[in-house]
Amino acid sequence: TVSRGSSSLNSANEGASDAKNLKVKLVLLGDSGVGKSCIVLRFVRGQFDPTSKVTVGASFLSQTIALQDSSTVKFEIWDTAGQERYAALAPLYYRGAAVAVIVYDITSPESFTKAQYWVKELQKHGSPDIIMALVGNKADLQERREVPAQDGIEYAEKNGMFFIETSAKTADNINQLFEEIAKRLPRLLPS
Ligand code: GDP
Repeated sequence: TVSRGSSSLNSANEGASDAKNLKVKLVLLGDSGVGKSCIVLRFVRGQFDPTSKVTVGASFLSQTIALQDSSTVKFEIWDTAGQERYAALAPLYYRGAAVAVIVYDITSPESFTKAQYWVKELQKHGSPDIIMALVGNKADLQERREVPAQDGIEYAEKNGMFFIETSAKTADNINQLFEEIAKRLPRLLPS
């Protein structure tokens, strides 16, 4: 199921959720250029298209995945719509988010520093039970790597986050990222 929609900022997390079928708001955060849009396009459309921009206003893309126990998780993925330039607007995006995916580029130490800023921001202002994933993207650019995987692993561990390195270009670990998030979502007990 691939759908595209826009809605008021607060309504993304409302709607039909039951034990078998969860709907979750997921926000992407991170420096401009780290590959957030490409990760979403790879996950939702199975494509890598560096020229296509999904970052427009208050809109999200949704994608449903099926888990082994036959339950489903529908992700409503909010790209940051340039919020990296307007930090004051960020709380509008992550309000009500069950999941935050914080992305950096493994060739850019600055983007790793910025990722840590977003983690602190979410720890201060995000929902207390938000699930955070730290993503080192552009893992295909090994020869240009400047952020050791170990740095990501250690930072994530200290902050109770899930860590993964991905490549939107080669599709490496993109589905795994969302599957691992789905596994970490609190499940309601069947009544
Ligand atoms: P955003 O600003 O974070 O949404 O970043 P984009 O998704 O627009 O990507 C920025 C640039 O990085 C584009 O030129 C992409 O082609 C490139 N890019 C994104 N993901 C990858 C990746 O996994 N590997 C490589 N080599 N380039 C990537």
